[in-house]
Amino acid sequence: MESMFEGVLSFVIIILIISFFWFIPIWFGLKWAKIKGVSKLWMLFGFHPMTGWIAYLILRYGIDPRKQCDKCKELIKMEAQICRYCGNQMSQEEINFAIKEYEDRKK
Ligand SMILES: [Zn+2]
Repeated sequence: MESMFEGVLSFVIIILIISFFWFIPIWFGLKWAKIKGVSKLWMLFGFHPMTGWIAYLILRYGIDPRKQCDKCKELIKMEAQICRYCGNQMSQEEINFAIKEYEDRKK
């Protein structure tokens, strides 16, 4: 009977470890999606443990941070001076402000 108990225990521990490594990239991915202002739908890849990590790494290192255009509310690149959707011009102060906001979110 004792060996059966050990079997169940190690099974539970293995499940815990797997789910731990599964949820880390989703947790961090959602955090970085918020910081960078990109879609959280990226982390739907987290349904699979491996693609969750890949999606997180892309979000973290491969995607430029975004800001929202004041006029059309589309997400555009942080350094953009002209919105690629509506042609709205942004002043250097607005760009600096967006970058500063991004730096604050990262903290
Ligand atoms: Zn726009």
